[in-house]
Amino acid sequence: MTSGNEPDTADVLVVGGGTGGYSTALRAAALGLDVVLVERDLVGGTCLHRGCIPSKAMLHAAELVDGIAEARERWGVKATLDAVDWPALTATRDDIVARNHRGVEAHLAHAGVRVVRAAARLTGPRSVAAGGREYTARRGVVLATGSRPRLLPGLVPDGRRVVTSDDALFAPGLPDSVLVLGGGAIGVEYASLHRSMGARVVLVEAAERLLPLEDAEVSRQLGRGLRRRGIELLTGARLTGAEPYGSGDGGGVRVTVLTDRGETRVHEVARLLVAVGREPVTDGLGLAAAGLATDARGHVAPADWARLETAVPGIHVVGDLLPPPSPGLAHASFAEGLLVAEVLAGGAPRPIDYPAVPRVTYSSPQTASVGLTEQQARDRGLDVVVNTMPLTAVAKGMVHGQGGSVKVVATGGGGPVLGVHLVGPHVSEMIAESQLIVGWEAEPADVAWHIHPHPTLSEAVGEVFLTLAGRGLHQSA
Ligand SMILES: Cc1cc2nc3c(=O)[nH]c(=O)nc-3n(C[C@H](O)[C@H](O)[C@H](O)COP(=O)(O)OP(=O)(O)OC[C@H]3O[C@@H](n4cnc5c(N)ncnc54)[C@H](O)[C@@H]3O)c2cc1C
Repeated sequence: MTSGNEPDTADVLVVGGGTGGYSTALRAAALGLDVVLVERDLVGGTCLHRGCIPSKAMLHAAELVDGIAEARERWGVKATLDAVDWPALTATRDDIVARNHRGVEAHLAHAGVRVVRAAARLTGPRSVAAGGREYTARRGVVLATGSRPRLLPGLVPDGRRVVTSDDALFAPGLPDSVLVLGGGAIGVEYASLHRSMGARVVLVEAAERLLPLEDAEVSRQLGRGLRRRGIELLTGARLTGAEPYGSGDGGGVRVTVLTDRGETRVHEVARLLVAVGREPVTDGLGLAAAGLATDARGHVAPADWARLETAVPGIHVVGDLLPPPSPGLAHASFAEGLLVAEVLAGGAPRPIDYPAVPRVTYSSPQTASVGLTEQQARDRGLDVVVNTMPLTAVAKGMVHGQGGSVKVVATGGGGPVLGVHLVGPHVSEMIAESQLIVGWEAEPADVAWHIHPHPTLSEAVGEVFLTLAGRGLHQSA
């Protein structure tokens, strides 16, 4: 290390220590590069501290709560729910987050990555100011500053009545009623969680269906499953007003919604949870000093997607800061980090195949998909064949008794599989084989030779491929 005001040099400077930034740093260090990682908050970023991990920990607890009702109502197990001990539940969640956080810190230290805890500002194409020092990069700078909840004009979160995913789970308990605004993955997961924990839930989505980027069949099944659980679902509906009323425990928010039929509905709820998307974080980053600008939606777009490199040579972007087709998912940011590190080490890694990145919603029911939707395949003018099977058509699906389905979109004439779309219990764990099938451009006949274990839910996936290959066992073509 240098001292005084001389710039400190490294091979690679990474700005932001979330999943995108820390994966870049770890891989670059493993390839022998000297890395400085600048993070203004905690390494692990959104996913670890406010996103994937705490939300999935709580959704796991929600599943256990739902299981008590199922045990009693369906299986004759005389179980009742006494109460949810909120401090105990959140302590377990926080312990999982803390252990992961220590793990990331330890990996970075072990790899020899120099972590600087400060806000970073670009001062040129290869230089960054942070914590009163200036750092220069011999090979490149990687921008990984991530995203934050998108807000609506005039709707200011106060952390109590109007909240975002940043604070919804960190209050001292869940409300007894909530209106969730936004039917994307985060809104659906949070609506599902609140419902499992006993809240009255209204879910409002402006588009005609939930998860509008997913296959229409997925949205339909998901909507049906959530309604069956007692969630009031309003699609094609817009928020027209939100007024806090009352004070203390008796207070809440009076939310006005214009429905798809042009009716105005007023919902009085203890909390309004705004989940209308995420926006990239670039404030104070000094993009202009490096010769960069954001696109119309605030992302930093690469000029070369194969190298995730901007128009300024040596400046790369990973994670939520990227525009679509990067999907704003942690596992995509890991892959982007690996890719950029390998590029900076002089390699020529395979470009990321974005349609083959799996997408999961961890609600009840879950959704999991990979590849093209039926509509996307048809819009591309492809010759498309589709086969669908309910999960309850296999014995294990009946055991679970939660509905769900498998839908496979393939090229006609026995050609490659284009997309797989699952809804139902445990499909987050079932999508992995389909990601290989789509990624490897396998044909139904290739898959149909592989035997699925019986009795499992995944048998339904195998069965759909058997049918598409003309060898259906329990399903006729
Ligand atoms: C509620 C929720 C649930 C989610 N669930 C899932 C899921 O189940 N699966 C999944 O794949 N994805 C999920 N995501 C998305 C996932 O969290 C993001 O895709 C992922 O965190 C993006 O990683 P990133 O590294 O790009 O950004 P981030 O994780 O946001 O990290 C960016 C980091 O940069 C730092 N930073 C910003 N500006 C500066 C600066 N100027 N100087 C220094 N540091 C700076 C920030 O402090 C932050 O730590 C979820 C997100 C949310 C909000």
